[in-house]
Amino acid sequence: MGNEKKEPYEMVDTQYYSEWYNQVIESSELTDKRYPVKGMNIWRPYGWKLMWNIDSETRSHMRRTGHHEVKFPLLIPEDEFQKEADHIKGFDDEVYWVTRAGRNELDIPLLLRPTSETAMYPVFDLWVRSHADLPLKIFQMVDVFRYETKQTRAFTRMREIHFFEAHTCHETSEDAEEQIREDLEIMEDLSRKLCLPNLELKRTEWDKFPGAEYTVGVDSLLPTGRLLQIAGIHQYKTNFAQAYDIRYEDVEGEHRFVHQTTYGMSARLIGAIIGIHGDEKGIVLPPAVAPIQVRIIPITYGEKESEILDYCDDLKERLGSAGFRVDIDDREDVRPGSKFYDSEMKGIPIRVDIGSQELEQKSITLVRRDHGDKKEYGHQEVVERVREECEAMEEDMYSKAEDFLQKNMVDAEDLSDIVEEKVYRIGWCGSRGCGENIEESTDRHILGTLYQGEEYQGKCLNCGDENADAAYLCKKE
Ligand code: ZN
Repeated sequence: MGNEKKEPYEMVDTQYYSEWYNQVIESSELTDKRYPVKGMNIWRPYGWKLMWNIDSETRSHMRRTGHHEVKFPLLIPEDEFQKEADHIKGFDDEVYWVTRAGRNELDIPLLLRPTSETAMYPVFDLWVRSHADLPLKIFQMVDVFRYETKQTRAFTRMREIHFFEAHTCHETSEDAEEQIREDLEIMEDLSRKLCLPNLELKRTEWDKFPGAEYTVGVDSLLPTGRLLQIAGIHQYKTNFAQAYDIRYEDVEGEHRFVHQTTYGMSARLIGAIIGIHGDEKGIVLPPAVAPIQVRIIPITYGEKESEILDYCDDLKERLGSAGFRVDIDDREDVRPGSKFYDSEMKGIPIRVDIGSQELEQKSITLVRRDHGDKKEYGHQEVVERVREECEAMEEDMYSKAEDFLQKNMVDAEDLSDIVEEKVYRIGWCGSRGCGENIEESTDRHILGTLYQGEEYQGKCLNCGDENADAAYLCKKE
């Protein structure tokens, strides 16, 4: 059982977590869930800026690695959707349909994309002619729609989902494998910036993406003891290429199917940041993506008001010119205590307090959101100190979350050991029968084996086979 209070990097009671989460996402003005369609929330300006900053990080990696941004239509014709059998089976229950336009029934019903394979691949067939067209590397950031039947939750379980999806085509299976390694390197870098340590797990056969040869799920541990998937990277081999007839002419003039991969992420990244780093005071945002990185708070109590405000303006000017996202909370008739509270609730990484003492001493008082310690510096150092503190904060947030993950991963040698809300490392022979038995008897999911592999000595928890691999068993968010 977890705490009844949200301390960062500690387990918290599930019911309490849920109430806390819903409250902080509203108080911090990220989202408004009063829109009258279940699972479809409004992005408020502060939340949308946060998402936009995360997307910008992703975009810069995509550009660096030779991907091109596209935007495909939202609607997909039913007959295109139905070409890959496993894919349809996987998504059929989750699809929203458009069957009428004006007063007319449509000849071919259209669906709202749940993901874009079936929108893109009929066109890939036209775009890819020869080996000179490969690799094809594209991505888009759009909303996808899935009819979620469980209780919805902002950012992590929605019906309208802000989604990033990269799709690639390659000549060979090895080229596609290389792409997956590149995706995982991008993920590693993003994880640092977003302060989201994770496990890269090769999913079980029965939990892979519908239509994929294999799936690597990237999972972060929430303080409820459940793993939240924050990204998925999929090797399709030629499964979709065969269904959509995507072939290229190789150097010998032979027509071959392309090998494909995808890489997906969503607004869940925000859900993970909030859940992992937030506390009783509100959310805590990683400096790299925070919409406001520094907030300056003038503390005037009626004295030297204009001098203090000028002093604040000068600091803002200097931080802004150095590239920081900075503002001043100069609201009149709001007490400093309430301004501190707002800054904490919104998770602004650095607060700079300026009162008459700072004005006289030509100093600044700098407060970090994560640990709340106050430090005094000379005003000349402001840019340098803010930069240092942002870097240190990113590192501290990542390493504390990493410690939390490590501390809550335990080995289990017997099914009866599996009782707590933790990530269990278990022996598993790899058979579906054993896997499903283990899942059923523990009421947890096998989230897979480490993508990079690991040494393991132990028996399958179900059949006792000595040549078992290490698998990770946990509840899923
Ligand atoms: Zn077994």
